Amino acid sequence: MKTKMRSAVLYGKEDVRIEAVEVPSPGEGEVLIRIESAATCGTDLKVFHRGGHARMLRPPTLFGHEFSGVIEAVGEGTNFKVGQRVACHNSAPCRECFYCNRAQYSLCENLLFLNGAFAEFIKVPEPIVALNLHLLPDHLPFDEACLMEPLSCVVHGVERTPMIVGDKVVVIGDGAIGQMFVWLLSMRGMEVIHIGSHSHRLETGRSFGASQSLNYRETEHLVDKIRRILNSGRGADVVIECTGKPQVWEAALQMSRPGGKVNLFGGCPRDTKFSVSTETIHYNEVALSGVFHTTPQYVKQALELLSAHSGKLRPLLSCELPLSELHRAFELMDDRKAFKVSIRNE
Ligand SMILES: [Zn+2]
Ligand SMILES: [Zn+2]
Repeated sequence: MKTKMRSAVLYGKEDVRIEAVEVPSPGEGEVLIRIESAATCGTDLKVFHRGGHARMLRPPTLFGHEFSGVIEAVGEGTNFKVGQRVACHNSAPCRECFYCNRAQYSLCENLLFLNGAFAEFIKVPEPIVALNLHLLPDHLPFDEACLMEPLSCVVHGVERTPMIVGDKVVVIGDGAIGQMFVWLLSMRGMEVIHIGSHSHRLETGRSFGASQSLNYRETEHLVDKIRRILNSGRGADVVIECTGKPQVWEAALQMSRPGGKVNLFGGCPRDTKFSVSTETIHYNEVALSGVFHTTPQYVKQALELLSAHSGKLRPLLSCELPLSELHRAFELMDDRKAFKVSIRNE
């Protein structure tokens, strides 16, 4: 068994180095996974540019959180076995706090996050092994299995937004998360109108089922236009915001019809605010909800979706690069040339 492994270490703003670090050994209830595939995510890109994350990561730190692989070693007291193919989620709730007792797991006061996917091996702590580590069906490739984490957040977002078949749903955002919303909502029988800023990405949205797409850079009076074309001038039944910009949150609210629902899914930078007219909420009865992260039940559902529709979300894995070219992966994402990059070990 190897004692050293190659791993990406984040030292600060845009300073990530591939280094030899100790291979961790699994304790009670833990497992060690040999990583077969890891995927970059918008959160990683933010962390890379900012040099950390207030709650999740303080440099120097291992990072990367979407991964799949093969069990390399197990600690005592787990049912997992060496050699099993698995996908692992990046967090677990504590099952003990005020919110966990109310089944509001995404609000868990002790939510445990796991980072270190851009490496040869990763040790998974007991709460994640117990709740969010899953065996992969044979036909599901490792790289697609990495989509379990982001897709589980999207499933959470959909389940928490009441809607009925045929509803006209506006999805704002053409990154990987926006695309997954387009895909899942279309599959569930909604009429999806997709808004983004890159025509090649909006094309992907149409291939995922969007019935119409609008490039906001090329559309004047976008909010008015959306209202005009939906429900005879009333606006959208549901709006899902996936960009995380306060001004887009405001636009999302303005696109809703009276009685509509707005899911503010994209997390905005800290200490930001947005404004909404009192009329929108009171007289127009627009319902607002914020939805954060995910919970174990949606992680399971996400893996079931990936298994049942293997290959369908592959366009979101834009290319594959070796660990040594992680920098390049972030460049491709910055330039909007990649939704996600699959990182493999050499
Ligand atoms: Zn992610
Ligand atoms: Zn908790």
